[in-house]
Amino acid sequence: MYSDAKKEQMKNYKCKNCGGAFLFDPVTQKMKCERCGTVEDFQDVDESGGKLEKVEINTYDFNLEEHKDFTGWADEIRVYRCSSCGATTTLDKYHISTQCPFCGSSQVQKTNMSPGIKPEYLIPFQVTQTKAEELFKEWIRGQFFAKSGVKQKQDLDRFKGVYLPFWNFDAFMESYYKARLGFDEQDSDGNTSTRWRRESGTYARDYSDVQVTASETIEHERVVSIYPYNMKELRPYDMNFLSGFTAERYSIGAAEGFETAKSMIDSRARSEVTEKLRNKYNPDRIEITSFQMNLSNVKYKHILAPVWVSAFTYNGKTYRFLINGQTGKVDGKFPISWLKVAIVSIVITLVILIVIYIFMKMSEF
Ligand SMILES: [Zn+2]
Ligand SMILES: [Zn+2]
Repeated sequence: MYSDAKKEQMKNYKCKNCGGAFLFDPVTQKMKCERCGTVEDFQDVDESGGKLEKVEINTYDFNLEEHKDFTGWADEIRVYRCSSCGATTTLDKYHISTQCPFCGSSQVQKTNMSPGIKPEYLIPFQVTQTKAEELFKEWIRGQFFAKSGVKQKQDLDRFKGVYLPFWNFDAFMESYYKARLGFDEQDSDGNTSTRWRRESGTYARDYSDVQVTASETIEHERVVSIYPYNMKELRPYDMNFLSGFTAERYSIGAAEGFETAKSMIDSRARSEVTEKLRNKYNPDRIEITSFQMNLSNVKYKHILAPVWVSAFTYNGKTYRFLINGQTGKVDGKFPISWLKVAIVSIVITLVILIVIYIFMKMSEF
């Protein structure tokens, strides 16, 4: 536990030795002076023995959005908007945003927008910028079809650390299902017919940390491709974690996010019911004909998760590379070299033709 005075000092992000800027260091998980390397701890790890205790999370309530300033978080946070790609990012009042982390544009302006609901938890960065760049180089080397220019251009672009916003939902799910189970039978003539049987029942369970992206800047599928995040490493939100990084402000509200979470729970529950019926009756076919689901005890938390982003433009198109800031998992879309694709296709076709030719020759004997 640290004194309020120390917390206040840490908030200024200034090194007491040299006056340099304190930035969050993913290696030590502490604050590190950019200039002299002095390290300062700020996390109250001892309180929970280094582990986040299961804190009672805000009960789900859409009206919460109307109480945006209840934590005083709006006083500390400024919202910036990129006029080039439309991304809204948040930064503490001690730093100024000069470049959009999502598209690289410098058209970033401070707005009067409210920062919205304060994140309760976050996953701190564990991958450093240098490490992110190494991981990327390693990954792009393995991408044979990328245009050669991409590999060189990326040496110039720096990855930027951003915290992406998410809604994590917990809920108790109860369902009533009806299903048709098909058993294939063969008659003496060898014809197959299916015998159907009806089943119905209830299925209930708790779902926790159903994660929904709260950002529209990066497409959902792209974010999913750098999943998973380890939720066991969630830390209570602290401004120090954001020092040296930006955080995106959520553009998808909790209510909208919950609709996505509902359909995620629905499809998970349906496949679990299917699996349950398969294990029990071992049918050849299963059709869920009706599925009624009810969610109760819904709770949510607003969390931030780290990602390294690099954007570059090639022939007027913006490409983005993402690296999971916790696990180092890489995802990227890149301009494809159609010349390379064509050459490989021709080679594969030739190989197949040769194999067919040899095979036909051999079968002549
Ligand atoms: Zn210093
Ligand atoms: Zn932008």
